[in-house]
Amino acid sequence: MSFNPVSAAEPIAKLIEELSKLPGIGPKSAQRLTYYLLRAPADQVQALAEAIKAVKEKVVLCSACLNITDSDPCAICKDEERDRTKICVVEEPIDILPLERTKKYNGLYHVLHGVIAPTEGMGPEELKIKELLSRLNDGLVTEVILATNPNLEGEATAMYLQRLIAPLGIRTTRLARGLPYGGDLEYADDVTISRALEERREV
Ligand SMILES: [Zn+2]
Repeated sequence: MSFNPVSAAEPIAKLIEELSKLPGIGPKSAQRLTYYLLRAPADQVQALAEAIKAVKEKVVLCSACLNITDSDPCAICKDEERDRTKICVVEEPIDILPLERTKKYNGLYHVLHGVIAPTEGMGPEELKIKELLSRLNDGLVTEVILATNPNLEGEATAMYLQRLIAPLGIRTTRLARGLPYGGDLEYADDVTISRALEERREV
């Protein structure tokens, strides 16, 4: 069998094409990554390929709080020690990590999977708000902590939710100022988040 440079290059072209679809990776970086992988040890490339597949096959959304998890319900929802009268509403699954790190919060969470951002075509229907309201129907929850980010979209979303939740007779609170305005929860330090949690206020 003779070496055919065109067909030999096909897998390379395919990988470059797929990698360039990733955020922040242009054709140049895709090319660099592809040639790096070509030279990398086979087991390293295998591990990467398996990790990519596993993320899609094994990670699901918790049917209660919509956090990402590999078992449904997630570890937090399953935990009998957690305070089921409180639900802390966050924008993205990644926002749960800094709140958990403070060890100051022992309630449950609810992940919206976005914020209201009309300029980006994100309306309330795009968020997991219906799911939140149906959780509030069980009569157990007495407080909803609105922990959306302290920026324009986060504030607007918190206000929108407050208006929906108030008629249900459930207390709504917002993390205290002190979180830098325009900053993301994801990047705030533990002390700041702990204080914002402790000093949360009614909305
Ligand atoms: Zn959960």
